[in-house]
Amino acid sequence: METIFDKIIAGAIPSYKIYEDDFCIVILDINPIRKGHCLVISKKSVDIITKLDSDTLSHIISAVQAVDKRLREKLGADAVNVLVNDGKDAGQEIPHVHFHVVPRFSGDGNMSVKEKYADGEIEKYYNKIKF
Ligand code: AMP
Repeated sequence: METIFDKIIAGAIPSYKIYEDDFCIVILDINPIRKGHCLVISKKSVDIITKLDSDTLSHIISAVQAVDKRLREKLGADAVNVLVNDGKDAGQEIPHVHFHVVPRFSGDGNMSVKEKYADGEIEKYYNKIKF
């Protein structure tokens, strides 16, 4: 089944793509938990991480680590949430493996209260974070 992330990977749908390699792309989430929220998306189109071979998963985890570091360096994040909704019943909306990497700031409150980008603001985050 083709997902919206397959279309983003193919370039058929635009995205704020901050990084790409043979295993994954990293884009800004357009509906962020916190501004700067990134998605590390597997190029292999499977729904859950158990369907990825360990080499692919290990490369994707390295990208997650690089994004985590980037959010600390470029946004001054004090901490980072790394989350996977690994299947529909875990709250997964898009059945295509992706890691959420969310910058967190001291005292920034409950993560169920999401932030919203103002007009033009996502471009500023894109320019700060892109590799
Ligand atoms: P999940 O619930 O783990 O499947 O998360 C899917 C995420 O994809 C959500 O946080 C959405 O805000 C995000 N999302 C959906 N469509 C797009 C898009 N076109 N560009 C960037 N992020 C998206």
